[in-house]
Amino acid sequence: MSATPAHAATGEAVNPWVALAYLVAGIFFILALRGLSSPSTSRTGNRFGMAGMLIAVVTTLVTHDIANIVEIGIAIAIGGLIGFLIARRIAMTAMPELVAAFHSLVGLAAVLVGWAAYLNPAAFGLVASTFNFTAEMRDGSTIAGGYGIISPVSKIEMGLGIAIGAITFSGSVIAFLKLSGKMSGSPILLPFRHVINLVTLAAIIVLTALFAMANGPAETLPLIVAMTVLAFAIGFLLIIPIGGADMPVVVSMLNSYSGWAAAAMGFTLGNTAMIITGALVGSSGAILSYIMCRAMNRSFLSVIAGGFGADASSGGSTEGGEQRPYKQGSAADAAFMLEQAEKVIIIPGYGMAVAQAQHALREMADLLEEKGVEVKYAIHPVAGRMPGHMNVLLAEAQVPYENVFELEDINSEFAQADVAFIIGANDVVNPAAKTDKSSPIYGMPVFDVDKAKQVFFIKRSMGGVGYAGVDNDVFYMDQTMMLLSDAKKMVEEIVKALD
Ligand code: NDP
Repeated sequence: MSATPAHAATGEAVNPWVALAYLVAGIFFILALRGLSSPSTSRTGNRFGMAGMLIAVVTTLVTHDIANIVEIGIAIAIGGLIGFLIARRIAMTAMPELVAAFHSLVGLAAVLVGWAAYLNPAAFGLVASTFNFTAEMRDGSTIAGGYGIISPVSKIEMGLGIAIGAITFSGSVIAFLKLSGKMSGSPILLPFRHVINLVTLAAIIVLTALFAMANGPAETLPLIVAMTVLAFAIGFLLIIPIGGADMPVVVSMLNSYSGWAAAAMGFTLGNTAMIITGALVGSSGAILSYIMCRAMNRSFLSVIAGGFGADASSGGSTEGGEQRPYKQGSAADAAFMLEQAEKVIIIPGYGMAVAQAQHALREMADLLEEKGVEVKYAIHPVAGRMPGHMNVLLAEAQVPYENVFELEDINSEFAQADVAFIIGANDVVNPAAKTDKSSPIYGMPVFDVDKAKQVFFIKRSMGGVGYAGVDNDVFYMDQTMMLLSDAKKMVEEIVKALD
């Protein structure tokens, strides 16, 4: 199968209709990003994204000299079916690891396209000139040979695509393993890791420069092999030291890397749509990472440099520490006290997603509002397991957007709240983030739930800890009542008691 790129390194003119169609697709992608910035417009945003992708794919297929459209059709059908089945079956709580797995595929695709272009530059229109030779053998016969010479610029694009793609691949595989619990979420800190990372990065840059200047398979092959191997290694090295509270940033950072890998691939293939799309994904992912870092009180540079600032003491878990006294209550106790309250602030977390308790929660809030109680929802930027996780779930349960508040907008209101109702959240309400320098969540802003008159804490058992694996002093406060149960079951019982 071979395809002719829309523009080739040889200077072939770009068809203006193709350029226009790609531009329209790009505008649709920008509208998609705009739509996805708010839960109320996110469905429209998704539709814009799908329309843009359809235009880009159809334009590429009809304007390129496709040798075997049947093979491509079969590949699209198989990929589409797998994507459809995964999307239907995936639990909302498993979305983050699915996203990480998808990012790894984007990275791998960039590596494979880069290698394919290196091995068969003619098929990608990348042959700037050819080098032919004849050699005389000892028996007097002659053999002729030759190879296409790829311009240094194309080789730099190819090298960038392979390097960023390989980093995205191995980094995303580690993120997938950590998020799915197949590997410990705690930071793994190698000795001299910053030196190792810097030397590996410098070696990748030097090898890419040498690769751009070299010619002929004998010179270029060892360079591109070494560069690819080191890029896979640094993706791994950058992500293993990151853990606990910094994982949300990693998820959005790998999202950004996958965009840059796609953009670099677009340069290699001479495909404007891929360059535009990759740059949009890359820059929006970078902006999201920056926003997440600010929300987490982390330095952007330290996180992308692979856990700068994390030290050996910060990986510890206090799971299984000494038994401390706590108060346990029932759904009836909770319902009684909620009815008496004037103001209730609900803090949802990952456990609400696990239990799928958002619909029951909305029902409970409606009943309380009918009884004259003011109910607000407080969303932490890293609650759940992906950016916007709680917003999506609350939107699904049709919680009015005007009742949902971000951390910085509501944190000062806990002092006036009668009840802080924590449902399946843990790390985002853990005061250790403010007081314990050795805690992996130290420095992360958290909700000041201890200022509320009463705190209700729904979780399944006293043994379970949050993602960062640390105990929580809020469980043992005088004004805290532990409601130990599955979140959905507990809220349904509270609803029954309120009714
Ligand atoms: P946590 O992971 O800190 O806590 C979850 C809580 O839910 C636990 O106390 C758990 O206790 C409880 N729980 C689990 N299942 C149920 C259930 N069925 N019913 C009732 N309770 C349940 O969640 P938070 O949302 O507070 O914090 C998010 C954490 O995840 C942060 O550390 C963040 O850094 C990290 N993270 C966030 C990402 C993001 O993008 N948002 C991405 C990756 C990581 P028990 O087991 O006892 O029930």
